[in-house]
Amino acid sequence: MKKGIHPEYHAMKAVCTSCGTEFELGSTEKELRVDTCSNCHPFYTGKQRFASADGRVEKFNKKYGIK
Ligand SMILES: [Zn+2]
Repeated sequence: MKKGIHPEYHAMKAVCTSCGTEFELGSTEKELRVDTCSNCHPFYTGKQRFASADGRVEKFNKKYGIK
């Protein structure tokens, strides 16, 4: 690698905004926020979970009165 042209790669923390789990990662960023992670994603947990934030589907359903 050439010196002086690469951003510094260091250990950083990623925080999941859904479940609050913190991950140690290597990145050029200082902090990273993710909406979902391997700890709370339905694919990994096997449980159906509804996102706290209103998604596109919910907005659509509300708009057209679908419950
Ligand atoms: Zn999570």
